Amino acid sequence: MEALDVSKVKISHTQLFINNEFVDAVYRRTIPVINPTTEELICEIQAGEKEDIDLAVAAAREAFKLGSPWRQLDASKRGRLLEKFASLLERDAEHLAVLDSLDNGKPLSDAREDVGATISIFQYFAGWTDKICGKTIPVDGNYFTYTRHEPVGVCGQIIPWNYPIVMLSWKLAPALACGNTVVLKPSEVTPLSALHCGQLFKEAGFPPGVVNIVPGYGDTAGKAIASHMDIDKVAFTGSTLTGRKVMRAAAESNLKRVSLELGGKSPLIVFADCDVEFAVNCAHGAIMNNHGQNCCAASRTFVQDSIYEEFVQKSQQLVANRKVGNPFIEGTQQGPLVNRAQFEKVLSYVKKGTEEGARLVAGGSRVGDKGYFVQPTVFADVKDDMSIATDEIFGPVQSILKFSSLEEVIERANRTRYGLAAGVITNDINKAFLVSQALQAGSVWVNCYDVVTSQTPFGGFKQSGHGRELGEYALQEYTEIKTVTIQVPEKNS
Ligand code: NAD
Repeated sequence: MEALDVSKVKISHTQLFINNEFVDAVYRRTIPVINPTTEELICEIQAGEKEDIDLAVAAAREAFKLGSPWRQLDASKRGRLLEKFASLLERDAEHLAVLDSLDNGKPLSDAREDVGATISIFQYFAGWTDKICGKTIPVDGNYFTYTRHEPVGVCGQIIPWNYPIVMLSWKLAPALACGNTVVLKPSEVTPLSALHCGQLFKEAGFPPGVVNIVPGYGDTAGKAIASHMDIDKVAFTGSTLTGRKVMRAAAESNLKRVSLELGGKSPLIVFADCDVEFAVNCAHGAIMNNHGQNCCAASRTFVQDSIYEEFVQKSQQLVANRKVGNPFIEGTQQGPLVNRAQFEKVLSYVKKGTEEGARLVAGGSRVGDKGYFVQPTVFADVKDDMSIATDEIFGPVQSILKFSSLEEVIERANRTRYGLAAGVITNDINKAFLVSQALQAGSVWVNCYDVVTSQTPFGGFKQSGHGRELGEYALQEYTEIKTVTIQVPEKNS
């Protein structure tokens, strides 16, 4: 089948989006955006730096002032704006999917699903705007006391490259639903869909300064957000290493609120009572989806000893049929990794896995000689202390480990600094309950994996993060609670 001719894709926006205008960066330095399929330049975009973040924050602060059009808008009207934005996403869905596929390398079919999820998330949070309410509290004395859930203020949001448009929705939708203004920095590697969204926010009718989108490098633009004295909250998604820096910068500047969605090394536990065929398929998707560049990727597959060899053999067969290639060809399941750094990192872990004594049963090499393609890879006989079992590889590398007892596997699954997600495959309901309670993870999936919805909270235990995104819980991250107490002449019960 013929692939889409990417040279014909129109890139309309390469400038910073500040105060509802597309503008050049103060220093006019640029960032090359590379197509990971061909290693060729797609375009150069403007690189936001500290001075640009300052301008964006000033615009967001102005838009947040009491009496501004945004602050005067009825809550229900905020919902209408979010709905309008969602309908524009629907209108431009195919173009947005193409942009994400182009700079990220994910199959176009996956990018289409990402855009669909993004639309649902904006629609979901559009429904919340006029349902965010406080309480009246029966206090002692002649007082009338109530609470207000107010927007936090100017929010800085920093997102990664693995799900560019989905990550934008997780951040912007709840922040805007609660009435905040935002400066969002997309990843320098995948900025294209975010910049197009800037245009759509303007078209939807958001007042100037409410949404500002400033791509830039982490150690300039990202750092400027985390350490800014006039940003009230920073929401970050990315690696645990960078999350630590963001938290430190927030602490050392104005102690801004911090929420973090970080890395993972998620276990998927397969008990011998399961349907092995189903389990092999589920475990394969759980690690291979999005090329393993998924914070929840089930990168440790624990399999009970009595079905271990059968499981390994079937996983080997399955992976051999995975279609790797041009993301714009229908049927492709895996495109290139996102960039050279990621490509080299993944191959270096494959090498370490072999050196440390794991059994390479499939893949392990580059595919072709152009583009950042890596074969889907399976290791068996992985031990808990091997690098491939402890470190977040963020690539299509499955590590299969053997276990005997339930107690043993719970202890080993939890033996990690991460706690983002986990999975259990079993036909025994008691085992499912027991293990899902014992696992230290923000999401546990039983007989399924990666089921992330607009309605359900998502976030990490331990070093996988602070706070929750999505669902009603996300609103807590974007509101301050104010207690108002009014003296009254006499209180009636
Ligand atoms: P990264 O930490 O390198 O970068 C993430 C973002 O932070 C980028 O926009 C980057 O420019 C910016 N950044 C870099 N240095 C910074 C600094 N000093 N100050 C402020 N910002 C800075 O991560 P990545 O490589 O883009 O993404 C992969 C990581 O993201 C993985 O560890 C993955 O697990 C994690 N992730 C987590 C979730 C989640 O919800 N928990 C979701 C997606 C990705």
